[in-house]
Amino acid sequence: PATSLQDIIAHAKEYGFVFPSSEIYDGLQAVYDYGQNGVELKNNLKSVWWKAMTQLHDNVVGIDASIFMHPLTWKASGHVDSFNDPMIDNRDSKKRYRADQLIELKAEAYETGGDEERGKALREELARLLGNEDLDGVRNLIIAEGIKDPISGTDNWTEVRQFNLMFSTQVGSLAEDASLIYLRPETAQGIFVNFLNVQKTGRMKIPFGIAQIGKAFRNEIVARQFTFRMREFEQMEMQFFVRPGTEMEWYERWRDARLNFHKALGLPAEKLKFHIHEKLAHYANAAVDIEYQFPFGFREMEGIHSRTDFDLKSHQELSRKKQQYFDNDVDPATGKPFGNYIPYVVETSVGADRLFLAVFCNAFTKETVGEGDDQKERTYLKLHPALAPIKVAVFPLVRKDGLPEKAQEIVKSLRSEFRVVYEERDAIGKRYTRQDLIGTPFCVAVDYQSLEDNTVTIRYRDTTEQIRVPISELKARIGQDVSI
Ligand code: ATP
Repeated sequence: PATSLQDIIAHAKEYGFVFPSSEIYDGLQAVYDYGQNGVELKNNLKSVWWKAMTQLHDNVVGIDASIFMHPLTWKASGHVDSFNDPMIDNRDSKKRYRADQLIELKAEAYETGGDEERGKALREELARLLGNEDLDGVRNLIIAEGIKDPISGTDNWTEVRQFNLMFSTQVGSLAEDASLIYLRPETAQGIFVNFLNVQKTGRMKIPFGIAQIGKAFRNEIVARQFTFRMREFEQMEMQFFVRPGTEMEWYERWRDARLNFHKALGLPAEKLKFHIHEKLAHYANAAVDIEYQFPFGFREMEGIHSRTDFDLKSHQELSRKKQQYFDNDVDPATGKPFGNYIPYVVETSVGADRLFLAVFCNAFTKETVGEGDDQKERTYLKLHPALAPIKVAVFPLVRKDGLPEKAQEIVKSLRSEFRVVYEERDAIGKRYTRQDLIGTPFCVAVDYQSLEDNTVTIRYRDTTEQIRVPISELKARIGQDVSI
């Protein structure tokens, strides 16, 4: 049976992966907290990404920039002037909606109702209007389509206006010279403003990259689909600085490398696809998304953008500080060094939370096992062992006769290397089930034979197969499976 997003949300909550934020106050829309298992899975994803980007490349280093940045940063990047969504208010419900999403929902409704043609035509009309910045046209389309406010049921709409997605706050004391600053809507700018710091202090030679993991904030109006679209989220971005004219080659290389990364995490090829952007953002000369097939359809998980010299050039203009690199490699065409230029940038940008959601959805497995009257449903998380929150659970078969002590010894011998838990409550079958539900790949059981010959059983999550191995081999056996 197909897994619904509701199943995913329920499982994530029940087993300590994701909780609604401030839940005792009924939550805060589009904000979520990661629980005891969620934080482990998310940290594992971040460290696998970090390793893939920095450790496995000679020429990519990391930074950790602040969330607050000088306000001119966002002027230079274009966010102050154009990081907008078209909004419409309903006068009766006093609710605000993203005008484009109201229309997209209508298109979706046509399509799920079997009228694909009409859905497609509607999307095209929307794209045309947005392309022409025809906000009145967008409003007219909402009215012509008979779209109603889901809360008040009326179509008493205001005009459509652009609404900036950045959160702002003030630094300094309010009475004196308080100034408006923003919570960063993307981590990329922290990398651009540090381009020369890193290049000079790290003596980096082009081509090279700077990677960063950090929080970003967007005042998303229509926040649906769980952690797919949040107001506070985490990005894992890498800006790769290249010589102008070589950007398409790097863009293709990084696009393929990033797809392979997702496959290595265990996301199946048929659930991943490229979506090439035809309409490009103001800063890009090529852009592609890696989409994953979520329970609600193929959606963007990562963006790979060829950003030209747009960002560095605008920072140079606004800051009046040169953002140039001197390339002393010889240009074969002229026989002279390439000299000074503002580098071009290829960016890879993936949401840690979206990747988490993709990995979680993909891991969620329901299977019917057994035959005849013994048939039952088994639910488990088929996570890559490198990503699993807990790698090993150790169980004494019974709570007596020295078995717990033997099991504790094993826990102690493994825990500096792997995240290990010890469990002695309930029947052993129940303990296996609990670990299956959070995706623990290996369960080790200590029984009477263990006391005699120092062997234990390892039970594998995906196959439920059990094999007997010497305790001395545990570390190596587990170790070989928990890396990517
Ligand atoms: P969308 O079109 O879905 O709003 P975007 O194209 O604006 O996304 P980018 O600005 O390219 O996204 O950001 C890069 C990545 O950051 C996205 O691919 C996504 O994984 C993640 N991301 C962006 N917005 C959010 C959000 N509100 N919640 C969670 N992740 C997000």
